[in-house]
Amino acid sequence: MSVTEHIILIGSILLTGVLSMAFYGKVKKLSKVLLAFSGAFLVSITFLHLFPIIYHSDNHSIGIWVIAGFFGQLFLEQFSSGVEHGHSHIHSHQNSNVLIMQVMFGLTIHSFVEGLSLGGFEMHGHEHDHHSHLLSEDVNPLLVGIVLHHVPAAFALMMVFASSLVSKWKILLCLTIFAIMPSLGALTVIHFNFDQEVILMILAFVSGSFLHVATTILFETDNTNHKIPYKTLLAALSGVLLSLLTV
Ligand SMILES: [Zn+2]
Ligand SMILES: [Zn+2]
Repeated sequence: MSVTEHIILIGSILLTGVLSMAFYGKVKKLSKVLLAFSGAFLVSITFLHLFPIIYHSDNHSIGIWVIAGFFGQLFLEQFSSGVEHGHSHIHSHQNSNVLIMQVMFGLTIHSFVEGLSLGGFEMHGHEHDHHSHLLSEDVNPLLVGIVLHHVPAAFALMMVFASSLVSKWKILLCLTIFAIMPSLGALTVIHFNFDQEVILMILAFVSGSFLHVATTILFETDNTNHKIPYKTLLAALSGVLLSLLTV
């Protein structure tokens, strides 16, 4: 992974955190549209990039890892209250310190594992040079997917903090931990030169987790009676179109 990619990954989260402190209302509106966009993009890159790699392999029980990722994410959301899909289903009577520890626990594991897949995807790409990107040779679609859903997640995290009485430096610390986790995961895989078998399992696990996050996002967009507002629908459609550019 290049330095620029790490900067994008970390910078986008820190920037969102700071901006949402300053412009709460505006960011909230934007966040909804971005969520639908990111959900559609995530589910699309899973089908376009991750599934072909996973199901092309000789490991016939690899699907178990997809299931593990799907339900593993469901398990993590018991702690994080859904922050990683851009929501905070939180009741204000909870003790704020315990709450923040819980949220950070779920969120840290989630972003570290996604980071592992970032590094794994890149290493897999070097071994099998079968990618032909319309968008750009160098764009890692997983990186785009992670940034797109972590920006609303950073906003949701700030909302959790807003309803608690936590000091500013603690907020900044949590935001930074969340921001650097994907980079840390990616560097771990590359530094320790993970085995291709293990990388495959990670990619399968993260596909499952992406599917969970993306479908939750799309189901939770305010679609009363299965009627999604046209703005949200348009955002989702744009997400799919952008993903097609990475094929
Ligand atoms: Zn939710
Ligand atoms: Zn994520």
